[in-house]
Amino acid sequence: MTTYTPMMQQYLTIKSEYEDAFLFYRLGDFYELFFEDAVNASQILEITLTSRDAGSKDRVPMCGVPHHSAQNYIETLVSKGYKVAICEQTEDPKQAKGVVKREVVQLITPGTLMEGKTIDGKSNHFIASAEQLSEHIFSLAYLDVSTGEANTTIVEGGIKSLLQQLISLNIRELVVTEQLQILLEEPAKHLSLVLSLEKEEMPNEKSGQYIENLPENLHAVARSLLQYVERTQMRSLSHIQPFTYTETKQLLRIDSNSKRNLELLQSIRGGDQKGTLLWLLDETVTAMGGRKLKQMLHQPLANQTLIEQRLAIVTDLLDEFFVRDELQELLKKVYDLERLAGRVAFGNVGGRDLAQLRESLRQVPFIKGQLLQSGKETLMQLGNSLDECVEIEELLSRAITDHPPIAIKEGDVIRDGYNEKLDELRYASRNGKDWIAQLEQKEREITGIKNLKIGYNRVFGYYIEITKSNVANADLTRYERKQTLANAERYITEELKEKEAIILNAEEQSLALEYDLFVELREQLKEYIPRVQALASKISELDVFISFAHVSEKYRFIKPTFHEGRALKIVNGRHPVVEKMLNKQMYVPNDCVLTEDKNMMLITGPNMSGKSTFMRQVALIVVLAQIGCYVPAEEAELPIIDQIFTRIGAADDLVAGQSTFMVEMLESQHAITNATEKSLLLFDEIGRGTSTYDGMALAQSMMEYIHDKIGANTLFSTHYHELTALEQQLAKLKNVHVSATEKDGKVVFLHKVREGAADKSYGVHVAKLAEMPDAIIERAQTLLEQFESKEPTPVAEDDLQLSLFEEVNQPAELSGAEQEVLEKLEKMNIMGTSPIQAINVLYELQQTL
Ligand code: ADP
Repeated sequence: MTTYTPMMQQYLTIKSEYEDAFLFYRLGDFYELFFEDAVNASQILEITLTSRDAGSKDRVPMCGVPHHSAQNYIETLVSKGYKVAICEQTEDPKQAKGVVKREVVQLITPGTLMEGKTIDGKSNHFIASAEQLSEHIFSLAYLDVSTGEANTTIVEGGIKSLLQQLISLNIRELVVTEQLQILLEEPAKHLSLVLSLEKEEMPNEKSGQYIENLPENLHAVARSLLQYVERTQMRSLSHIQPFTYTETKQLLRIDSNSKRNLELLQSIRGGDQKGTLLWLLDETVTAMGGRKLKQMLHQPLANQTLIEQRLAIVTDLLDEFFVRDELQELLKKVYDLERLAGRVAFGNVGGRDLAQLRESLRQVPFIKGQLLQSGKETLMQLGNSLDECVEIEELLSRAITDHPPIAIKEGDVIRDGYNEKLDELRYASRNGKDWIAQLEQKEREITGIKNLKIGYNRVFGYYIEITKSNVANADLTRYERKQTLANAERYITEELKEKEAIILNAEEQSLALEYDLFVELREQLKEYIPRVQALASKISELDVFISFAHVSEKYRFIKPTFHEGRALKIVNGRHPVVEKMLNKQMYVPNDCVLTEDKNMMLITGPNMSGKSTFMRQVALIVVLAQIGCYVPAEEAELPIIDQIFTRIGAADDLVAGQSTFMVEMLESQHAITNATEKSLLLFDEIGRGTSTYDGMALAQSMMEYIHDKIGANTLFSTHYHELTALEQQLAKLKNVHVSATEKDGKVVFLHKVREGAADKSYGVHVAKLAEMPDAIIERAQTLLEQFESKEPTPVAEDDLQLSLFEEVNQPAELSGAEQEVLEKLEKMNIMGTSPIQAINVLYELQQTL
C-alpha cells in the first residue's frame, strides 16, 4: 500500500465522497486538483498540469487555480455539465495541530449555479426532479435556487412528453431515481442533460411546509428535489418558496415543438430572440419582470376568469398612460428583489446588495401611490396588495451607509449611530488621526523643519520622517531612529507610540465589530425573505402588465373577448412579428372565422403567398389572448383553447436520424392522439415528405379523422389541390385560398385570404410569366386537363386500404408464437432501446416464429 502524506490522505478521504465531481481542494491561496481530476481539468480549463510529491513513489498530478479567480473556472466546468465540490479549510491554519481541517462546503452543479456570466438575469435557471407515477405519467418538480421559485406539474403522454417539458423549461440538471436514470440515459445525452441520482428519500420534517400545497402524488418528487438541493448547497434554504401546483386544465398547453414552430420564446433558427413573440412583447424594465413574462409565455392560461383579470389590468393601464409611464420610471429603479432575497438566504449578500435592496424598497411607496391615485379599480387593488416592507427599509436605512463598498471587511458599510460601541471605536480612531495631524504640526514648529511629516506603514507603524539634508541641523535628542532610507531618516517618539497603540487597536476593533454587525443584520433580514418575495412577485407582474399595455398601444392591439363555445372569429388579424419585421411594405390583415358548423379550413395558394403566416397568426392571437394581452386584430371573439398543436415547416429534429417525413408523422400522431374538441390544430403542408399519392392519402385520412373523431378547430394548408374536393365530403370543412395576381408580367402576392380554392393552373401560369417557350406551356396545359379528367379524387373513403388510425383488423386466429411476438412488441420501450438492442430483439422475435 502506498503511504501518502497525511494531507494527501485527507484529500483522498474527502474525494471518495465526491466521485462524480471535480474536488477543488483549498491549499493557502489556491484551489488544487489532484490525480485524474487534475489531468482532466487541466485539459478542459487549459491550465498547466504539474505534479506534487505526496509521499508515494510517483509524484501525483496536480493543477490549481488562484482562489480569488476561481469563479470563472468553476463556471466553465459547470456550464459544461460537470459538478464542482468546493473544499475549504475550516480551521485557522495557525491554530491547527497536524493537517488543517477541511470540509466540502458546497457542491456546485449545472442546475444550482447561481451567478456568473452564464446566468441570464431575465431567465430562470431551474433544476428539476422527475418520478414515474405510472407507465405514461410522470411527476415533475422544478425550482430556481437563485430566486426560490418552486413549481410542480404532472406530465402525461409518456417519456416523450417529459423530455419536451424539460426542453421547454430549459432544464440542465435532472434529479432522478435509479429506475428513471436507466430510462433517460440515452435521451439525456442528446439533450446534454445532466442526470443526478438521489437515493431513496428520507422523511424530512422540514420539507412539510414546502409541499403542503401539493396533491399527495407530488410529495415524493418535490421532497427528493429539496433533499438534493439541501445536500449540495449545504446552507440555509429559507428563501425557497413552497412548491406551487397548477392543474393542467387551468393552462393552455403547447408542446415544445409547437412552441418552437410558433417562435414563442425561441426562433426556429435558434440563436437570439429576434423574431420571437417574446422579442415583440418584452418591454419589461426589471429582470424579475423579464422572467415573469417568460413564465407566462411558457404557460398561457385556460381559465377565463384569470385571463379576464389580467386583461382588466391591462385595460386600466392603457387608459392611464400617464400613471403607466410614471410607474415604469419607478420600476427602473427596482433591482432584482428575488435574487437579492436569495442572496440574503444564502448568506452571500454584500453591502452593495443591501443598498440595492433599500433603494428598491424606497420605490414601493411611490409605486403604491401611483396605483392608488389612478382611480382605477384593478390598479387600486394591486396597489393595496403591495407590502412596502417598511421595517426592512427602516432597518437598512439605519444600518447601511449611503454608498457601501462591495467588500464587507473593509469598513464603511455600517452607518454612524447604528451601534454605540462602533461609534466609540470610530471616534477613537478618527480622533487619533486628528491628534497625529496636530503632532505633525507641533514637531514642525519645534524643529523648524517645514517638510517634516508623519507617515504610516505596516511594519513600523507611525513614524516621523525627516529628509537627510535637514537631519544635521536639527536637535533630535527626543527622537529614536527606526529606519534609514536613501534620502531620509525615520524616527519614533514615546508619545507617538502610545497614541499609535490606541488608534490601531480602535481601528482593528471597529472593523471587526462592523463585520459582526453586518453578519447579525444579515441574519435578521432572513426573517423578512418571504415578504420581499411576495412583493417581488407583485412587482414583476406589474412590470409585465405595463409591458403588455405599451406593446398593445404601440402596435394597435385590441381587447379580445371570450365565450364558452368553440367558434372563433378574428376580424382583420395580423401576425405581429411578421408585421414588425416588414419594412415599408404593408401587412395585409386577414379574417379567420370558424363556427361550430364549419370549424376546419383548408388553405391553398402558391408558395410564398402567406399560408403559413396566416395559420401562425391565428395561433399567436390565441396565445396572446390567453396570457392576458391584447391582440393584433380589429375584433377577436375567441373560445378558450386547451391545447395548441402545430405541424409546421421542417422542424429540426431532436432525436437525430429521423427523416423529415417521420418527424412529420410523429408530430401529427402526437397532435391526433392528444387533441380534444377544445384544441387548435395547425397542419402546414401535410404529407409533403413522401410521394404524392401516399402523402395525399395520409393528408385526407387525417382530415377525415380530425373531422369525425376529434372536432377540434383546425387549419390545414396543402399544395395537393385535389384535397379541395373534400369540401363536399366533410361537412365542417371549408376551402379558402391566399390570392396572388399578375401585374406588369410579374406575380404579385396579395396575401389576402379569400373564400374558395386556389386557381389550379397556377404553376403553368408562373411558367408563362417566366417566358417559357410557348410549345411547353401549351403542352403543359393539355396534360393538366388530361390529369384532371382522369383523377377520381378525392379517394372515396372505402378505397383507402390502410388508414393509419383505424384499428388494424386482426386475423381471426393468431398462432401462439405470433401472439407472443405481438405482445413482446407491444411491451417494448422503444425510447429506451439502442439500435444494437433493437437488432437483438428483432433476431429474438424471428426466432420465436
Ligand atoms: P407560404 O406558407 O404560403 O409559403 P409564408 O406564409 O411563408 O408563405 O409567407 C411568405 C412571406 O410573405 C412572409 O415571409 C411574409 O414576408 C410575406 N407575407 C405573408 N403574409 C403576409 C401578409 N398578410 N401581409 C404581408 N406580407 C405577408
